[in-house]
Amino acid sequence: MSRRNVEVADLVATARGGLEHSGSARAVARLISLVEDASPQLREVMAALAPHVGHAHVVGLTGAPGVGKSTTTNALVRQLRAAGKRVGVLAVDPSSPFSGGALLGDRIRMTDHATDAGVYIRSMASRGHLGGLSWSTPQAIRVLDAAGFDVVLVETVGVGQSEVEIAGLADTTLVLLAPGMGDGIQAAKAGILEIGDVYVVNKADRDGATKVRRDLRTMLSLAARAEGAWRPPVVPIAAQNHTGLEELVVAIEEHRTWLAESGTLLQRRSRRAREEIEAIAVAALRSRWAVQGGAKLERLAASVAAGESDPYTAADVLVG
Ligand code: GDP
Repeated sequence: MSRRNVEVADLVATARGGLEHSGSARAVARLISLVEDASPQLREVMAALAPHVGHAHVVGLTGAPGVGKSTTTNALVRQLRAAGKRVGVLAVDPSSPFSGGALLGDRIRMTDHATDAGVYIRSMASRGHLGGLSWSTPQAIRVLDAAGFDVVLVETVGVGQSEVEIAGLADTTLVLLAPGMGDGIQAAKAGILEIGDVYVVNKADRDGATKVRRDLRTMLSLAARAEGAWRPPVVPIAAQNHTGLEELVVAIEEHRTWLAESGTLLQRRSRRAREEIEAIAVAALRSRWAVQGGAKLERLAASVAAGESDPYTAADVLVG
């Protein structure tokens, strides 16, 4: 099958056939490539996937570079596999314009799981022109969800300001901190105190981990939380030594239970869908203007610059 002429229905059926069946992982890979390539077939792909999504628990990992996100992702995969869960991993690099599944996917850290059919790992560059994580990552999540993964871990790699974006994508957001990565005040400044569902203090084997935990607990206790609201736990781990992973998985599952019972899961997913719809609509508008050669926009811009029109009137003309 050439990429141009993929039978979408076949591809989706194969992807859903279960990873133990040969071809499933390849079908998943093909579908995610269609997302990365912004293929015209995506419309069809997304329609075919729609009846099958909603099962996976989407867990985002965020934190400063060097805090241990990759190590923790790897350890979490191991822990979840031991519990019999099928795990998909998306390592998203929002700073890279390059699409590089193979390139980044070869990262040595993940070779631990290379022969495990219950794990699918994919690195993605979320292309800048469509707005960071807002467009391609949720669609890749849909692919993994529909393919039957129980948990989809979304990790940002590289340097990014994507903390808040990842929180928008995930059902459960893990915020990672570690000793030696700057003090708690910096954490507060970065706005992470609002986005974490579970706080993970990694490198608990190191000096200073207790202080990070204590400071974090104090800061979290100061935050005003409504009655019945989720109270984010602080979980110490040493990902490198595989310590604390059991407790972390329990915390993640407790959050998932709370999400479902409080009705928050549906709210979060609606919000995610809203952002996706907006991103697609904006991209469609942009490409419509581009099809017109940008001439209309240029004309309007010239008239605003010349004081003959104002930007609001011009925008009405453009959108109308
Ligand atoms: P990322 O940039 O957030 O993905 O961080 P990495 O997972 O690449 O880890 C950064 C560094 O921290 C690496 O050198 C890891 O070996 C180290 N590291 C990760 N987890 C632990 C841990 O539990 N204890 C200690 N001491 N070092 C760790």
